[in-house]
Amino acid sequence: MTRFSGKSVIITGSSNGIGRATAVLFARYGAQVTITGRDSDRLEVTRQKMLKAGGLPENVNVVVVNLTDSDGQDQIIQSTLNRFGKIDVLINNAGANFMDGTMNTDQSMDLYHKIFRINFQAVVEMIKKTKEHLIKTKGEIVNISAIAAGPQALPIAPYYAASKAALDQYTRCVAVDLIQYGVRVNSVSPGVVTTGFMNAMGLPDQIQEKAEAFMASRKECIPAGVCGKPEDIAELIVFLADRKRASYIIGQSIVADGGSSLVGGMHAHDLKDMLGL
Ligand code: NDP
Repeated sequence: MTRFSGKSVIITGSSNGIGRATAVLFARYGAQVTITGRDSDRLEVTRQKMLKAGGLPENVNVVVVNLTDSDGQDQIIQSTLNRFGKIDVLINNAGANFMDGTMNTDQSMDLYHKIFRINFQAVVEMIKKTKEHLIKTKGEIVNISAIAAGPQALPIAPYYAASKAALDQYTRCVAVDLIQYGVRVNSVSPGVVTTGFMNAMGLPDQIQEKAEAFMASRKECIPAGVCGKPEDIAELIVFLADRKRASYIIGQSIVADGGSSLVGGMHAHDLKDMLGL
């Protein structure tokens, strides 16, 4: 018996970054895992890493869909039920920021809808659709937020920041509602983590490396002096999803950011100018 054997876990956004590292960790601990995203090649990389970590092929369910489509959400849930018979854990990790040349208060309404659609609405929809199944198993939900949620302002990306602030409050409300049925809900708030996040915004590797080097070298940005790795966040996600270890934690947003939110200097820098955007 390993830590999660017999548990059925859905991880959205597991074709890259934090979601991939989380899938690998759950596989190591014996879980049955549905991995999902839009990019089938990247999902295959995740699958291979899960098998290398000790996961069994029959315990990996791959679903290639867009999470912002209602049909895509239904496919994730139905194929998990068909394959594993139940849902014990839902990790709402998929998320993104987008750029279209507009910034700050001038960000377009298209951006507003796109960002809220994936970072907030898709989480709400997944929770509504899985609720009955999670109640049956007395399951766990972990949402992935961000320190961008505040309380410091992030004027360069107000919709991304606000979508995560909305998610934090939603986590608290849903946690208090669902704990009466035995379902625990929590969230994780990472700081800067080296993932595909900036690539997904359309920024090249050099810009990401420049931004991360800048943050890591300044104590007012990241006191720990280093950017996080996806594995650092995955450990926390798995801990929160583990009822044996985290049963009394309800509705919390746990920060893992190398100290960034304690000093609050990161958001005060004008990244737009620094990166030449
Ligand atoms: P990545 O870009 O590396 O991973 C994002 C994942 O989300 C990918 O697997 C991507 O899959 C999936 N995704 C995005 N949009 C969709 C969609 N419409 N449908 C289905 N899947 C989608 O970024 P991270 O690992 O960094 O991001 C994970 C979470 O962590 C996000 O919620 C992010 O906001 C949060 N976060 C990240 C931080 C960081 O510094 N990296 C800091 C704070 C929070 P695909 O492209 O295959 O569709």
